[in-house]
Amino acid sequence: MFDSLNPRALFQLSLLLVSTLAWPTVVRSEDSSPSGSRAVLEVPLEVRQLVSPAAGVVAAPALQMRQWALSANRVWSQCSIQFSVRDARPVDADALGLPIRPQNQQDLSRIHDTLFPSPPVGAIPLHFAGIWGFQDPTTQFVLHGLGWFFLTGDSSVSRGVKTIGAMIGSEHLSDSDRLGYLIGHELGHALSLPHSDDGSIMGSNRGIAGDSAKRISEAQCEQSRRFALTYVM
Ligand SMILES: [Zn+2]
Repeated sequence: MFDSLNPRALFQLSLLLVSTLAWPTVVRSEDSSPSGSRAVLEVPLEVRQLVSPAAGVVAAPALQMRQWALSANRVWSQCSIQFSVRDARPVDADALGLPIRPQNQQDLSRIHDTLFPSPPVGAIPLHFAGIWGFQDPTTQFVLHGLGWFFLTGDSSVSRGVKTIGAMIGSEHLSDSDRLGYLIGHELGHALSLPHSDDGSIMGSNRGIAGDSAKRISEAQCEQSRRFALTYVM
């Protein structure tokens, strides 16, 4: 399963989605091109790989980290969204006292909060964080990745990003097809998309990602582009 957030967080996510639909629409003119030839949105990522020399998890070259991250572009080209990597580097879990084998969402939150104490300006944090393979005690799901966004403030005029990001367990890094799908799904969450069992990439429970599961609907594209333009870029 690709499930990400605990039920309370999912509830919050749903509330945020409702709010999203009511927000003033801020869309650049190229988005409404009747020909469908919309401009490509470049969404920057900041990539971190959590490594642990003691546990034998060693840093990948920066180029490799970039290739992992950009595998999501195959999926997101449907929305004319292309992720770019602004920065990619390893972080030593042992030196920071972070768990290389997280056991629950609290561990994952700690990793994120330590590496990004405040949200990066104009980019989405993407972590390749340790060795997962645990059943989350809150959801009972076996987590492979996480993606989230939360906004600050209650009013549409003062909203900003409180926290945003995506994390992937390092055990998936060797399967480039699956990785592109997994990161694509989690970045979908980071761009405000909830789960949607409509056969799209945002399905909540997909053991094997077939071609149809790599689809992103036009409505999902529009919502993601609007979110990226308003809150990320
Ligand atoms: Zn999910």
